[in-house]
Amino acid sequence: MTKWLLRCTVCGSERVLDVGFNLTAFRGRLYIYCRRCKANREHAVLGYYDDSGRLAPPGDFAGVDIAD
Ligand SMILES: [Zn+2]
Repeated sequence: MTKWLLRCTVCGSERVLDVGFNLTAFRGRLYIYCRRCKANREHAVLGYYDDSGRLAPPGDFAGVDIAD
């Protein structure tokens, strides 16, 4: 699993999404639910947290696209 940092492009709130696939496969944009907007919103992929817990840019991600 990878923790990704996402930002709602409508209200600007940030959230962490812990998923088993490469969000850069969505070209840096994906629609997920925003708790502040209370609706599905476009989110920008700001980066992911590497093994040491540091935020790294999406382009540095070297994992698999989809892990089950
Ligand atoms: Zn929002």
